[in-house]
Amino acid sequence: MSAPLLPGGTIGILGGGQLGRMSAIAARRMGYKVKTFDPAAHACAAAVSDQHTTAAWSDVKALKSFADGCGRVTLEFENIPPATVTQVNTLVPCHPSAEVLAICQNRRREKEFLKAQGIPCANFAVVSSLEELTAAVKQIGTPCVLKTADFGYDGKGQVKIPNAQTNLEEVWEKIGDGIGVLEAWVPFQLEISVIVARTEDGRTAVYDPAENIHRNHILHLSLSPARISEATHREAQALALKIAAQIKLVGLMAVEMFVQDGRIIVNELAPRPHNSGHQTFDANETSQFEQHIRAVCGLPLGGTRMLKPSVMLNLLGDLWRNGQTPDWATVLKEPAAKLHLYDKGQAAPGRKMGHLTVTADTLEDALQKAEALFVTLSK
Ligand code: AMP
Repeated sequence: MSAPLLPGGTIGILGGGQLGRMSAIAARRMGYKVKTFDPAAHACAAAVSDQHTTAAWSDVKALKSFADGCGRVTLEFENIPPATVTQVNTLVPCHPSAEVLAICQNRRREKEFLKAQGIPCANFAVVSSLEELTAAVKQIGTPCVLKTADFGYDGKGQVKIPNAQTNLEEVWEKIGDGIGVLEAWVPFQLEISVIVARTEDGRTAVYDPAENIHRNHILHLSLSPARISEATHREAQALALKIAAQIKLVGLMAVEMFVQDGRIIVNELAPRPHNSGHQTFDANETSQFEQHIRAVCGLPLGGTRMLKPSVMLNLLGDLWRNGQTPDWATVLKEPAAKLHLYDKGQAAPGRKMGHLTVTADTLEDALQKAEALFVTLSK
């Protein structure tokens, strides 16, 4: 077990997107120095880090120089090769581990882990050919969904199979060759997520479940707290804590879940800060980003109490119509709205450019205000 890395020390972050940027902001506020590493030329976390490296995940020399001087390394993106994390971990403790990463970045390993731990998840089968797919569709039934085993997020790499007449040859072609996971379709009423933090010595903290509303497979609104019963709320938190302990998480994890007739079905694990936790920056005692830093550094974890109900509205590139920046002055006339922009440069449809958090005394009020702001921005 490593000694805590106290404020004043240096944290390395693998990945330089908005999650790294907001983690870096939280770390710097606490007095840490931050180094970031990303293969992309314009990583938006670079502007708020003390030192940024642009290099490939496989560049051992660049990884060594990045790790040099860091007391801890963490990550903000789960599709980093586990070998990169293993390499960095020979130099500096890196959390979460390559093992956690390997489970979470592959749907097959993720589902097999959940099943082995007795965590409720959709019935599934692993398929590697059209013949196996055909047999699995018969066994699981329709509707169902075929997902690529690797590198899936925001509904990418998924094809729904609505009924037994679906042309499976076409479905298999869309997924490409390789390994797929066929999942039973869950007729859920709500999607929720729970963010949990865990330290190396097993201390944990958990947030209230957030309710997630998607548009075109991308998170649109996140409502906190989720509109679920007290029993479902507690069960969701208990499941997230159980998963964090069983996977031996060090750091932060979001557990995405479906709620169907009061039952919880776990969909996906993300071992990093999560889009559905952005409102914690403005609406909770400790933000998910600060909690991420506290957990990987071995500090006491911060309180997770929600100070006010809130709604997070994602600001996608679609709102930058004809290259025009949205009218922020009008948005900011709403005193309960907090604007977060990620400095990502070029806007593109579906690209996450920033978010708004709206807090209010009631969730209904926050939702009404957030929806009205979305209408204003979409005009
Ligand atoms: P994923 O990339 O696995 O998180 O899936 C993206 C979205 O697709 C989820 O947020 C759900 O809205 C939907 N989805 C994925 N898997 C299923 C399923 N088995 N049943 C119903 N909807 C699903």
